Amino acid sequence: VIEINNLHKSYGELEVLKGVDINAHRGDVVSLIGSSGSGKSTLLRCANLLEDSQQGDILFKGEPVLWKGNAHHRRPADAKQVLRIRTNLSMVFQQFNLWSHMSILQNVMEAPVTVLGRPRDEVEEAARGYLQKVGIGDKCDVYPAQLSGGQQQRAAIARALCMEPEALLFDEPTSALDPELEQEVVRVIKDLASEGRTMLIVTHDMKLAHDVSDHVVFLHQGLIEEQGPPDTLFGSPKSERLRGFLSATH
Ligand code: ATP
Ligand code: MG
Repeated sequence: VIEINNLHKSYGELEVLKGVDINAHRGDVVSLIGSSGSGKSTLLRCANLLEDSQQGDILFKGEPVLWKGNAHHRRPADAKQVLRIRTNLSMVFQQFNLWSHMSILQNVMEAPVTVLGRPRDEVEEAARGYLQKVGIGDKCDVYPAQLSGGQQQRAAIARALCMEPEALLFDEPTSALDPELEQEVVRVIKDLASEGRTMLIVTHDMKLAHDVSDHVVFLHQGLIEEQGPPDTLFGSPKSERLRGFLSATH
């Protein structure tokens, strides 16, 4: 579903991604791990067209999502395509980003109604269903500030699901949470994985990466240092850097 080939991304002089390849087939859960600043968030943001890139291709269901033009000025092809990509690759951020002036139900309904133009009553039914699914079906009418962090993050996941995306992108979905709240969110992500959803997950939680992933990618300074199935990657890491990283995270 998502294919990233030889992606290069710089911010001015700083080269953040130096040629990264990632391939997530339908139903795959791919986790990205690596130290702070290694380019994990940047990669997700490029996949979602929140960032431009300088070189390489991103394919979504086989369709190229970037212009091949001038290396210094590449833009997503057109606004319709950007919308299609963002709808189909729905992103969940570390800091939930819920709209504080809207109820939880309104938060979940907002984009499908206003961006996709889907009928309000149909979206409302779906939104209630997704809130139920993530375990906060009773919180429809409250505002984000009245929820715990774990509940807010689950609301954000329901909001992403309500777009009915092909794939979900998670950027450290549990790292703003206390350990006990983190588990509620981990449980939801595990459920989604067992449903066969395609997901790209940036996480610092090695247990989560181990338990849900089909494939784990270790990024180091903008390059893939090592990758493989979770048992191999965590059980017998080959590179010195990955071994160092894993022992530092425990
Ligand atoms: P973390 O684990 O801390 O979230 P990360 O792997 O997600 O790290 P990125 O956020 O992708 O790292 O950042 C990679 C590098 O790019 C960092 O050195 C960061 O300072 C730089 N960077 C990120 N966003 C920008 C930006 N908008 N402008 C300039 N530099 C940026
Ligand atoms: Mg990050």
